[in-house]
Amino acid sequence: MLVLLMAPAAARVDRPAVEASFREWIAGDLRAEAEAAGVSRATYRDAMDGVTLDWDLPDLQPPGADPPRAEYQAEFRSPGAYFDEKRLAALVKGGRQRLKSWERTLAAAERAYGVPPGIVVAIWGRESAFGEVAIPNNALRTLATHAFIGRRPALYRAELIAALQLIEAGDMTAAEMRSSWGGALGQPQFLPSKVLRHAVDFDGDGRRDIVESEADTLGSIAHYLRQEGWQAGRPWGYEVMVPAEVACTLEGPDQGRPIAEWAAMGIAPVGGGAFPRSERRQQGFLLMPAGRFGPAYVVTPNFYVLKAYNESDLYALFIGHLADRFADNRPFVADWQALGGFDRGDVRAMQRRLEADGHDVGGADGLVGFRTRVAVGRWQASAGVPVTCFPSADLVSRLR
Ligand code: CA
Repeated sequence: MLVLLMAPAAARVDRPAVEASFREWIAGDLRAEAEAAGVSRATYRDAMDGVTLDWDLPDLQPPGADPPRAEYQAEFRSPGAYFDEKRLAALVKGGRQRLKSWERTLAAAERAYGVPPGIVVAIWGRESAFGEVAIPNNALRTLATHAFIGRRPALYRAELIAALQLIEAGDMTAAEMRSSWGGALGQPQFLPSKVLRHAVDFDGDGRRDIVESEADTLGSIAHYLRQEGWQAGRPWGYEVMVPAEVACTLEGPDQGRPIAEWAAMGIAPVGGGAFPRSERRQQGFLLMPAGRFGPAYVVTPNFYVLKAYNESDLYALFIGHLADRFADNRPFVADWQALGGFDRGDVRAMQRRLEADGHDVGGADGLVGFRTRVAVGRWQASAGVPVTCFPSADLVSRLR
């Protein structure tokens, strides 16, 4: 790209020059791509005329800027910090109200798509506080900025084209198209390509409206999960007790086995009792988001459908846990221990060392996903130290 070649060596961003090439891009390359995608000249002009770069967005990498470093200096956040009890309590209260007021719509969505009301309402609450949160940004400006000077230009360029297609199709107007800083739209916080693919007109007024219509929002969330493979009639997962003899390195979506096998190893739902009979032949997967230092789960394939909404074990667990609490408002049985004393850069250095030793950490990204937890556990087992499947400050300093 021309602007990159012209970028000065010093860490200095020439904003007027970047703005000028942005305007050229809108008038040229991007317009051609939009036209090829079926966006009319009139739609394009109305939508993109006057769109400027938003320099206040996070995650930008304009030509001349220093390479990103800050996120790796961020203190590692303990998984338990994700589950703020005050926030959960507010969402339980708000969710229970919506389960009542939207009961018929939610029942219709379950009949149509097989997704239970609690799951749909949990996502709605988590994403937009049931549609009550103010959505701060002009979506076209946000998407265009990320597409032009963001860190993931290809992804956002495709999303910007999808946004223009939504306007062309009459699903949304440019004016009502507001988004998060990451470009997510409306009450379910879908990226534009997800709106194109998954949104449905569930109130029957002829228009898919995930901005103003609660019914369209609820139907669209359920439809999204159905299309990602939600299995009707199965739960998302169970909090379980994992005996010390069962290796935490058995965690993950690639190590599934019938729930009866997990039960035979001594794993049981917390609070006593057994897994439901109907589940015993079905696949289950061990999930230990904090290794041996927090709650453990046997999850079903539906857990991984929730991850399709947001690629994070903690996000999917938040949704499942919140949905459970609408029915029975109890916190986690096991405690989340405080973990940390290291930063994301330390985790990344540890991951690189594990990769050099032949372990698959799922990419050295400074985050502790299931592949990193399993790799840590396998390394611990081979080193003859206690197997926790989670890094500690001590381990991180040793493994770098
Ligand atoms: Ca509608």
